Amino acid sequence: SDGDRVPALVIGSGYGGAVAALRLTQAGIDTHMVEMGKSWTTPGSDGKVFCPMLSPDGRSFWLRDRTVQPVSHFSGGSVDKNISRYVGVLDAEDFGGIKVYQGRGVGGGSLVNGGMAVTPKRNYFEEILPGVDSNEMYSTYFPRANAALGVNNIDPAWFESTEYYKFARTGRKTAERSGYTTTFVPNVYDFNYMKQEAAGQVTKSALVSEVIYGNNAGKKSLDKTYLAAASATGKLTISALHVVTSVAPAATGGGYQVVMNQINEQGNTVGTKTVTADKVFFAAGSIGTSKLLVAMKAQGQLANLPGAVGQEWGHNGNVMVGRANHMWDATGAKQSAIPVMGIDNWADTSAPVFAEIAPFPAGTELWVSLYLAIAKNPQRAQFQFNSATGKVGLNWQRSQNQPSIDMAKKLFDKINKKEGTIYRTDLFGPVQTWGDQLTYHPLGGCVLGKATDGYGRLPEYPGLYVMDGSLVPGNVGVNPFVTITALAERNIENIIANDMN
Ligand code: FAD
Repeated sequence: SDGDRVPALVIGSGYGGAVAALRLTQAGIDTHMVEMGKSWTTPGSDGKVFCPMLSPDGRSFWLRDRTVQPVSHFSGGSVDKNISRYVGVLDAEDFGGIKVYQGRGVGGGSLVNGGMAVTPKRNYFEEILPGVDSNEMYSTYFPRANAALGVNNIDPAWFESTEYYKFARTGRKTAERSGYTTTFVPNVYDFNYMKQEAAGQVTKSALVSEVIYGNNAGKKSLDKTYLAAASATGKLTISALHVVTSVAPAATGGGYQVVMNQINEQGNTVGTKTVTADKVFFAAGSIGTSKLLVAMKAQGQLANLPGAVGQEWGHNGNVMVGRANHMWDATGAKQSAIPVMGIDNWADTSAPVFAEIAPFPAGTELWVSLYLAIAKNPQRAQFQFNSATGKVGLNWQRSQNQPSIDMAKKLFDKINKKEGTIYRTDLFGPVQTWGDQLTYHPLGGCVLGKATDGYGRLPEYPGLYVMDGSLVPGNVGVNPFVTITALAERNIENIIANDMN
C-alpha cells in the first residue's frame, strides 16, 4: 500500500515477471508484483471466467467499445461486435503503423496466447544474441523453462485421427505436396485434457474455440505454473489493476520510488500510490517496458539511461494470410483453437519463414487454411517520447512489413500454384490479402547487452533490471515465449547470485 518499502518490485506478470517472481521468492526475498490487468479468477454471470470466442463481451478486449478481431472481416463485412468497456484480457494497442496485441491480466500474454512453446533454432539464436553463451542456454535454461512452463506434445496418433485437427492435416498435406517441411510444435495446453474434451468427459475449452480471449480450462498459463509456485512460497504479493506510471531514484535511503495508479474495472483511476523498492524489475513486456523507460529518460526521472533504450523494436516478422482450399480439401467445422503444426522454411534464404498452421474456428466448414507466418524481416523501429502529448509512440511504418509479405508470398504462391488455389482476400479488410497491420509478437526496445548489461541490468541505475521480451532484438524466428522465459531464467540466476545480499 501507499508509502510502503519493499525489497523487490516486479512490474508486469507475464513471462519475464513470473520467472523473476518465482526465483526471487524461492531465494527468500519478499517480492511485490504490480499488474495493470485484473486477476482472472472470478466467474462472470455465465459461470465462466473468460467469455466465449464466438460471442465476445467486455471480458474480451481491454477498454474498448468494439472488438478488433485479428481476422476482422469475412465475405465483405466486418466481424467485429460492440462490447461494453471493461478491463478485458486482450489489448490491441494502436500505434500509427501497427496494432500490437498483448495480454492484460495476472499472467500477461500467457492468458491469451496460442501456447505454442518453441525453442528457437540454435544458429539463429546465436546470430541474434551473440553475447549469450548458447551452450548454457541449450543445456540448462531452455530445458529449465520448458519444464517449468509444463510444455507437452500432442499424441501423433490422436492428431491423425481427430476431426479437430483436420485443418492442420490439410495444411500439412498442401505444404508437403509443394515440397515444404512441416513439423509438430510443442504447447503448454494439456493434450490429455484436450483428448478428454474430445471424448466428452470434461468441459470443453480449446475444442470450443477458446484461446485469444482466455481459456477456461486446459491451458497451463503462468497463473497455473510459475506464479502459482511463487505464491506457494508465501513471499509474493500481487497488486492487480495497478498501472505503474513512474520509476525514479528515491530521494533518501537508496532504492527507487515507484508511482502507480489504481484503476477500477472500467479503467478509471481511483487512487495513486507510491512505493519504494530496493530493486525494480521491468517486466511490462516489450511495449510496456520500452514505453516506461523511454518516458523516464525523456522526462528526466532516469535521464542517464543509454541511447539504446527504445531502439531495435521488431514484430518477429509477423504476417497472416488465408488460402481458399478446394471443396475436397476440407478444414473441418470443428477445430481445436490450439495450433500444433508449422511449415518450417527457415533454412531457405530466399524465403526464410516459419508459418504456423492456424485454426479458423468459426464453427462451420469454410475450407480456409489460415497461417501466421514469422519471417526473417530485418526492419526495426524506435520508441519516441512526444513532449506535446506526454506519450510514447512507436515509429513503425506499415510498409516495413513488405519484406515479411514478400517472403511469405513466395511460399504460399508456390502452394497455390501447385494446388490450383487462391488467397482469401476477405479476411483482413474488405479486400485485403495480407494481415500485415497487426502483430502478436512485439520484441525488443531494450536489447540485452546493448541497453542493458549481459544479464538485463540497467548499469546506470544499480538495482534496476529488465526481464521481458524487450531484451530480444526484434526477431527470434519462432513464437517467442520460450526464449523470453529461458533468458529470464538465465538472467535472474546471475542477478540473485551477485546482487541480492
Ligand atoms: P507480457 O506477457 O506481455 O507481460 C507483460 C505484462 O505487464 C502484461 O500483463 C501487462 O498487462 C503488464 N503491464 C504492462 N505495462 C504495465 C504497467 N505500466 N504497469 C503494470 N503492468 C503493466 N508466443 C508464443 O511463444 N507462442 C504462442 O502461441 C503465442 N501466441 C500468441 C497469441 C496472441 C493472441 C498474443 C497476443 C501473443 C501470442 N504470443 C505467443 C506472444 C507471447 O504471448 C508474448 O511474446 C509474451 O507474452 C511476452 O512476454 P513478456 O514477459 O515480454 O510480456
